[in-house]
Amino acid sequence: MHIFNTKETLQQHLKSCLKKNESIGFVPTMGALHIGHISLVSQSFKENSYTVVSIFVNPTQFNNEEDLINYPRTLDIDVALLKAHFNSNIVVFAPSPENLYNRKIVSMNFNFGIIEHQMEGKYRPGHFNGVGTVLTHLFNAVKPTRAYFGEKDFQQLQIVKKLVDLKNFNIEIIGCEIFREINGLAYSSRNQRLSNTAKKTASIIFQTLKNCKEMFGTKNALEVTDYVTSIFKKKEAFTLEYFEIADTLNLETVTKINPKKKYRAFIAVFIEEVRLIDNIALN
Ligand code: AMP
Repeated sequence: MHIFNTKETLQQHLKSCLKKNESIGFVPTMGALHIGHISLVSQSFKENSYTVVSIFVNPTQFNNEEDLINYPRTLDIDVALLKAHFNSNIVVFAPSPENLYNRKIVSMNFNFGIIEHQMEGKYRPGHFNGVGTVLTHLFNAVKPTRAYFGEKDFQQLQIVKKLVDLKNFNIEIIGCEIFREINGLAYSSRNQRLSNTAKKTASIIFQTLKNCKEMFGTKNALEVTDYVTSIFKKKEAFTLEYFEIADTLNLETVTKINPKKKYRAFIAVFIEEVRLIDNIALN
């Protein structure tokens, strides 16, 4: 296990060990690692000569200062978890914002098209410019062959694919399925901030998404949306921020279903002031 806190030392190390035809798999994270992150690292570990895991809470992708302050930071525990699952060949990159951003901690502006104006883009202004900026810096530092992203952040995954096109990065982007707790709650670093009761109650999120999938064959998008709204109206512990059924390709909210297209349902809810997101493929 090698841990680097600067781009320069990381690059020196990768240069010294990488041989011809060897590949680098990259898993960008904000730390507070859980089994969902580990599933991405496992896939990279299997498919590449080396795997780099970045642990970096990116200030430019938070539109809410309090959320940034409260975001869990557990580097020692994260490193121990990676050590327990993988022995050698894992490289941890945990830079300071000053080092990663060359001291200019500001967002670049991207044009990601329609996708950036939907859901997370609508409710978290500036979020995807922050994501695009940090990934530009990280991709330039790591120069990976492949990079692994969770479908948990499905919209982010589409944005990353756009970023790679826009910036001509020679990186294969791999989407990995959502890892869930036994009760269906998607693993998230933010779950650490929930009480045990809230974690149990939050199983309703995935249960509702599964019900939507079942309804999708017979009910229209509006009826499914009304059903979700009514469910969360009845649950006082939750505040529903959005529920959308969207076209998988451009993430535009759907009104009329075209059987030839693929759709997903997306949800964002607050419980105990913690914002949780999830999604499901509908067809
Ligand atoms: P984060 O640390 O939350 O920025 O997440 C880092 C990466 O892990 C992102 O690509 C996420 O989509 C992915 N990820 C987070 N939670 C899960 C999960 N429950 N299952 C699969 N991937 C996940």
